Amino acid sequence: MSLKLYNVLTRKKEEFVPLDGNKVKMYACGITASGDAHIGHAYQAIVFDVIKKYLDYSGYDVTYVRNYTDVDDKIILKARELGVNPKDFANQMMEKIDKELAAIYVDKPTIQSKATECIPDMISFIEKLIETGHAYSTEYGDVFFKVSSFPEYGKLSNRIVEDGLSGVRKSVEPGKLDDKDFALWKKALDDEIWWESPWGRGRPGWHIECSTMSMKYLGEQIDIHGGGKDLIFPHHENEIAQSESLTGKQFSKYWLHNGLIKVNGQKMSKSLNNGILLEDLLREYNPEVIRMSLLENNYRSDMNVIDGALEQHEEKIYHMYQLFSEVDKLGKENLDKESSIYQEIDKEFRMAMDNDFNTSLAITHIFKWVSEIRKLMKNLNNDTISQIIQIKESLVSIYKVLGLLQQDSNIVIKDIQNKYLTKYQIKEEEILEKIESRNEYKKNKDWEQADSIRKELMDRGILIKDSSLGTEWDIVLPLKK
Ligand SMILES: [Zn+2]
Repeated sequence: MSLKLYNVLTRKKEEFVPLDGNKVKMYACGITASGDAHIGHAYQAIVFDVIKKYLDYSGYDVTYVRNYTDVDDKIILKARELGVNPKDFANQMMEKIDKELAAIYVDKPTIQSKATECIPDMISFIEKLIETGHAYSTEYGDVFFKVSSFPEYGKLSNRIVEDGLSGVRKSVEPGKLDDKDFALWKKALDDEIWWESPWGRGRPGWHIECSTMSMKYLGEQIDIHGGGKDLIFPHHENEIAQSESLTGKQFSKYWLHNGLIKVNGQKMSKSLNNGILLEDLLREYNPEVIRMSLLENNYRSDMNVIDGALEQHEEKIYHMYQLFSEVDKLGKENLDKESSIYQEIDKEFRMAMDNDFNTSLAITHIFKWVSEIRKLMKNLNNDTISQIIQIKESLVSIYKVLGLLQQDSNIVIKDIQNKYLTKYQIKEEEILEKIESRNEYKKNKDWEQADSIRKELMDRGILIKDSSLGTEWDIVLPLKK
């Protein structure tokens, strides 16, 4: 089977055939460094991180460019509010966001570009558009793209220009000849950040950044251009118009867009104050809990994060790592990629992913194998032990593509336990003391007292289990509590 992906440009699921043999050129629009990264940013970064990793896994030679927008109206406004230099503010934000993305195992792209590092390239891009009649400068020092000069405008978002392009606000920009036209270069107001240009001091518009950076690092034509679906119009439509007007060639063969995040059914917004920041998620959840929660969704559909959704995945991951920790005690064996177990897990993983990156199905497969391990654990012998180890090692090796199952079992278990010990306001020493006094009561056959300690701990979220090895404790996760 080969990879099929949904191309937003053709509105069809198509076979993936790169422009140049085995080489894949991919660009995804990155974050505007005007504030902290939220769950929507994390989602987009994870989606394209997984797509990149799966293309690598499939044997392609991928060059992936992701940008930061480090100059724009919002950054300027925010920096002014804080009384700091906009460049310093953007740098500070990018450094912070880089760290947070690394914490959720989003790898750095092959090239991470910043808008402000490509200003001369943007200026020459705009100059060429003016020369060829696709753009015009105004007496006020702005430059606009002339939408009527590009008859295919609207082909990505499927909008018809004559419709009046619903979504375009009535313009108040002086010198603009048509409401549909959009800014390529904006004149700087007095105290704003600026660069010299043939049209005076100013800064680039947002759309021109991505076209320029994509062409600078990847050439005139690329295989995949990605971003959130909120970027389809006008951002990506404008990127196509600028780029294809300049080169006369198709800009990107495939356009991929991830769905948007809703919180309890509502769009995240400042006024509802329902935004979820990545740093808050990281404080609360193991990174794989965050990744799995987001990848359980089909990347193209919107995702509704409801209360308790992350806790569900936390519970699954906690119990899975508990099982893996038991598996580790059975011994070590090298992963055998020729084994039928590896082949089967790999095959079903590829089948899921080859179908437009169906991460949701791929995750279902993990838990099918986790159940299989549980079953085999009930009947341990040399044969089953080897099978169990091969299943676990195969999962760990293959699911690296999704950034899952990559942590040390005992560390994940301890992390999640410590989180709930703090929430339940109980310390491990206290639990151990209680278990000890319960054992004393049991020794003295005072069953009533012994049981009241068990109940007391249960009420506080701690489960105790007696076995031939002694008494062990475990936390009761919130959904079961
Ligand atoms: Zn972009």
